[in-house]
Amino acid sequence: MKKRILFTLIFSLLLSVFLSISALAAQHGTLSLSASGAVKAGDTVTLSVKLTGAESIDGIAVTPIYDETKFELTGGSWKVNGVITDFSVDTKDGVIAFAEGTAVNTTILTFTLKVKSGVEAGAYTVGCSAEVSSTDKAKSTLNAETQVKVSCSHSFTVKNTDSKYLKSAATCSSAATYYYSCSKCGEKGTTTFKSGSALTHTFDQKNTAEKYIHTAGTCTKAAVYYYSCKCGSKGSETFVGADPDHRYAETWSTDKDNHWLECSACGERKDQAAHVPGPEATEDSAQVCTACGYEIAPAIAHQHDFTKHWYSDDATHWGKCGCEEESQPTAHTWDNGKVVSEPTAKKQGAVVYTCTDCGRTKLEYTDPDPSKSDRTSSEKDGDGSFGIGALVGVLGGILVGAVGVYLTLVKRKK
Ligand SMILES: [Zn+2]
Ligand SMILES: [Zn+2]
Ligand SMILES: [Zn+2]
Ligand SMILES: [Zn+2]
Ligand SMILES: [Zn+2]
Ligand SMILES: [Zn+2]
Repeated sequence: MKKRILFTLIFSLLLSVFLSISALAAQHGTLSLSASGAVKAGDTVTLSVKLTGAESIDGIAVTPIYDETKFELTGGSWKVNGVITDFSVDTKDGVIAFAEGTAVNTTILTFTLKVKSGVEAGAYTVGCSAEVSSTDKAKSTLNAETQVKVSCSHSFTVKNTDSKYLKSAATCSSAATYYYSCSKCGEKGTTTFKSGSALTHTFDQKNTAEKYIHTAGTCTKAAVYYYSCKCGSKGSETFVGADPDHRYAETWSTDKDNHWLECSACGERKDQAAHVPGPEATEDSAQVCTACGYEIAPAIAHQHDFTKHWYSDDATHWGKCGCEEESQPTAHTWDNGKVVSEPTAKKQGAVVYTCTDCGRTKLEYTDPDPSKSDRTSSEKDGDGSFGIGALVGVLGGILVGAVGVYLTLVKRKK
């Protein structure tokens, strides 16, 4: 039990001490410092001193802290009101006093530092110290610091020919061009200078463009050219171009007998040969050389043939060609006629005429012939038309003959 009482006692004591310290810290707040931005040598930077979370404050004394070889204090002013607000460049500090306990939670003071000339580029630590007192007579010293970035106040005066300053390399016509660099930090500027001299031409290029021709070539003699430099300049030394050769056409030249490949420069011929006749010309296609396509004989002009298909009327006939063309109608050319029925004393005769061109027939009657006598009854029985009886007789004879042949064949088979 004694141990427990002792433990509780010690714990309570520690807790009260901790709480009293917290209360004290909260009362005087937190100090911070910030710079207005990057500056160059000779410029002035403004630093803002901020006190936050302070209560019941009755006085503050601020002292800027800086490297006097690099900075010079040029001014300072309080940003809050008090019964006394004082800042001295000579004593390098500022003091403020409040009439009563004041809560502070803002920027309280700004001071300006001029960067001394000759200060090199870099980041420099600047600070301040604030002695804060409260109405309960408690005092505490707060500190803060920040970095002031000093950039180079370039002086692009150095002609450094290191490759990193190269703008364009030397050519046959121009020296190399470099950017000036900063004498302090080495940074590359934007102005340029030339260094060295232009390169000398190197005439080692075998360019066969027309402008380098020394002596033009022929089909049997190679051309001669001047050597050139990579920059295009023409040298004075020469070289012989590619071996000479004829420039034969890729298509055949022809006359009525032969075909050949001809050199466009000198007219020299190669592969000359007589045409190779293809199939004979027809109405549809010409006869051509199977090697070069030369037309040996033109296609044959179409000749109408009107005798294959005849058309006719009583008076005329006309033919039709395979190409659908029809000839002009012309009168039939009748033959001497064939008597199909002789006239008798009382009956008319009949004659069939045939056109010797188109084969059309016509029937004509002849007058009765008193010198003939009516002999056959079949002829007598006719109704005035030509030999029906004779026709029937002929057809009957054919029928009888056919039956006879058929019977003979049947008998032979048996
Ligand atoms: Zn510089
Ligand atoms: Zn050149
Ligand atoms: Zn040639
Ligand atoms: Zn040919
Ligand atoms: Zn025709
Ligand atoms: Zn006819």
